[in-house]
Amino acid sequence: MNLQDISGQRQLAFMQQFDYIREAGTPAEHKAAEAITKELASFGVTGVLEPFTIDTYAVDKVTFTVTEPYEKTYTVAAYGRCGSTPPEGVEAPFLYAENGDDISLAYAAGKIVMVNGPMRPDLYQKVVTAGAVGFLTIGGTPIDTGADRTPEGRALPRLKETPIQGAVLHHLDAIEIVERGASRARLVVRQHETQATSHNVIATIAGSDLADQVLTLTAHYDSVPAGKGAYDNMAGAAIIMELCRYFAAHPPRRTLQFIWFGAEEKGLLGSRHFVTKHEEELSRHQFNMNVDLAGQLVGGTVVGVTGDIAICHVIEYMAREIGLGLSTKHMVWSSDSNCFAWKGVPAMTLNRDGFGMHTRHDTLDLISPWSLQRSAQILGYIADRIANITAMPFPRTIPQEFAETLSRQFNR
Ligand SMILES: [Zn+2]
Repeated sequence: MNLQDISGQRQLAFMQQFDYIREAGTPAEHKAAEAITKELASFGVTGVLEPFTIDTYAVDKVTFTVTEPYEKTYTVAAYGRCGSTPPEGVEAPFLYAENGDDISLAYAAGKIVMVNGPMRPDLYQKVVTAGAVGFLTIGGTPIDTGADRTPEGRALPRLKETPIQGAVLHHLDAIEIVERGASRARLVVRQHETQATSHNVIATIAGSDLADQVLTLTAHYDSVPAGKGAYDNMAGAAIIMELCRYFAAHPPRRTLQFIWFGAEEKGLLGSRHFVTKHEEELSRHQFNMNVDLAGQLVGGTVVGVTGDIAICHVIEYMAREIGLGLSTKHMVWSSDSNCFAWKGVPAMTLNRDGFGMHTRHDTLDLISPWSLQRSAQILGYIADRIANITAMPFPRTIPQEFAETLSRQFNR
């Protein structure tokens, strides 16, 4: 691969079309999917839209009021997917339980409990078991002003039972209520479940003599509702678009499939739909190369590998060949690559961390052509070598410990 064929400027120009919030299941996400197919068509590749239904939620009402020893209503955002309180809410003593350790939670029975959060399933279970009747977590930072003083909503992953409801309180308000000695509070959370349609976009570049072996290059194009998701993850979408353009002009020996996933931010729903719908084809899949978080200048490339340790060595060797820095981590990464690994296909996620994830600050302003070019060169080189190598350079296995973690995660 001639690395100079990879353009950062072209990727940035592509990204500029997507300067809007693309929450899964909304018309904006659909518009982005259509724009991806248009871009593919501009260099003669067909993008196929695969729709799927997502279960989502809508918040009808959320309020949090300290009732004793003073009365004040604070601006909060609801936790999605944790059900509804009675219409009048729950009123109970208030407790700040810090990180949710066992000692702090020993006082939680019958109370509305504030923890630092975010609320993950294991912490939620602990708070429920401790007897809490509602929860708050803390969002934002102590230096926030203006629009940033409004906390962003969060959601639990889908759980079988959600006996208590919760909301997010801003960091500065959390300080105030503890310092003012809040002892009683009322929490109202009302929401309902609803359905929407999201889409994956799939483009295939057929291989030559090894066409029955498939490699995937993937990135999600949806964003959180709070922000425009430039580095998370339109940059990833741009990187695989640039590589799709390259490989359309330089078809490799193995088949390459490029997939732009919808609804990643709702819990890897697009990739989960893909590996379920295409389960029968997966025996031909050799490797998934995913990108999630990219494009900002200050950062470094980390490749999270969920597969045999040999993949780490192969990737580090290739990076040494082209002299572009990266490090590898052998672990279960939390991105779309997980769905492939869950189904037994070795997978990796290329990641370049940055500023402002899942906030309104994740915008195009911090996206750098230098960074986009570099990440696309690294990923393109890896993909090119693996797509053309005579025999795959690592086994098609998932370490037992990773397989168990993934199966727990997906069968929850
Ligand atoms: Zn992401």
